[in-house]
Amino acid sequence: MSIESLAQAAFLVAALLFILALAGLSKHETAKAGNAYGMTGMAVALVATIALAIDRNIDSLGLILIGVAMVVGAAVGLWRARVVEMTGMPELIAILHSFVGLAAVLVGWNGYLLVEGGGSPEEIALLTAEGTLGIHSAEVFIGVFIGAVTFTGSIVAYGKLSGRLKSNPLMLPGKNALNIGALVVFVALTVWFVIDPALWLLIVVTIVALALGWHLVASIGGGDMPVVVSMLNSYSGWAAAAAGFLLGNDLLIVTGALVGSSGAYLSYIMCKAMNRSFISVIAGGFGIEAGPGEDKDYGDHREVTAAETAELLRNARSVIITPGYGMAVAQAQYGVAELTRKLRENGTTVRFGIHPVAGRLPGHMNVLLAEAKVPYDIVLEMDEINDDFEDTDVVLVIGANDTVNPAAETDPGSPIAGMPVLRVWNASDVIVFKRSMASGYAGVQNPLFFNENSAMLFGDAKDRVDDIVRAL
Ligand code: NDP
Repeated sequence: MSIESLAQAAFLVAALLFILALAGLSKHETAKAGNAYGMTGMAVALVATIALAIDRNIDSLGLILIGVAMVVGAAVGLWRARVVEMTGMPELIAILHSFVGLAAVLVGWNGYLLVEGGGSPEEIALLTAEGTLGIHSAEVFIGVFIGAVTFTGSIVAYGKLSGRLKSNPLMLPGKNALNIGALVVFVALTVWFVIDPALWLLIVVTIVALALGWHLVASIGGGDMPVVVSMLNSYSGWAAAAAGFLLGNDLLIVTGALVGSSGAYLSYIMCKAMNRSFISVIAGGFGIEAGPGEDKDYGDHREVTAAETAELLRNARSVIITPGYGMAVAQAQYGVAELTRKLRENGTTVRFGIHPVAGRLPGHMNVLLAEAKVPYDIVLEMDEINDDFEDTDVVLVIGANDTVNPAAETDPGSPIAGMPVLRVWNASDVIVFKRSMASGYAGVQNPLFFNENSAMLFGDAKDRVDDIVRAL
């Protein structure tokens, strides 16, 4: 059997392993196996690709370049994966998406320089006669466009997630017209490029797409970032698929389509969970207008100590804990698990209410609580627990803010208006663990902190939880 057909068979095996990886990753019991399938699939794909390159008589410089790229890539990948904190995961993913976008742009440009821009007149004449030149040009153009949008979009997402850029939405005048205009220009230029593949058209579409990617993500406010990350995940898949068409690589097409469609589906699920219009978010916040400024006076807040909170908890029959990003930052999950154990021993009913976008990545809180061995059966989703706050004595809001903000329900002008939230304010007492009165990720003040039945327990969440455990 030739290397060519062996490599194609290996690609098929790798594609199946990637499908098994996705299936495995959908449940936490099978997530480890899912990861193992994914890694095996990637190893098979790499070996097959290199074997194929050797079989196609790649020169020694080419082989050396592949070797260097693999060593550098593996070293950087291993280093980042080892040092990244759980809270830094979304921004790492965002920057990785930007690499996929950049790779698709480079593959597209390379395709152009080899064929339309650098092919001999005979080759061009042959491709034109076969009718495949137009298809190649369209692949180049579309690949570069999707890749460039993904590239700059992911860089802005990285900036917003890591706090290097402000998380509030950029509101350029006529922003919807700008986005639609860019799409219309892209479609028109694609037709033109297929008819006459001139270099300047490729340059123009690259610039338009880079600007569009930047603007699309910059226009989306902090609260909608989870959807943006999964949307860019989807775009990076389509960019890879486009590169696969250009390179004639079936595995890249299949893998790109898997990532593209699963990312699109995840975005859809997250939009539903956050009561956002899918179309509006993928169109860069289409139709979302800026709310009024933050100049409201909410009155005074009340403070409590850890000892007072311990006393309150000792007398409570039912407690709900709603964790958020601050629990992840403080690494307070172990203390929270210990507190839960103590309270349950005391006969108190303790449950957790998990908002679908709490923290900085889907399932963030579930992972942390599982790591600290909190029993799964007391960890409930928002919809399962939202009606139970009325019958609850004490709610502990541990480092959560946007996900418990009543303004989402009461203030139509708020940037998070319409987003479903945990109705913690319905409980008898609400204790909010945070370090200051600062706003959450979406940058909006939280009226919950000023309610009569709310009290602030200031300080690092881990220290305060440990204080309570000691007092108990
Ligand atoms: P928020 O980000 O709204 O708020 C977290 C709060 O934790 C802050 O107000 C902060 O207040 C507090 N905090 C930070 N560090 C500590 C610490 N060491 N100890 C105690 N408190 C601390 O959190 P939520 O989880 O409620 O909401 C998540 C937000 O992130 C949403 O807006 C969501 O849309 C967005 N997002 C979610 C993603 C996802 O996939 N889940 C992805 C990207 C964004 P202070 O500084 O005063 O301590």
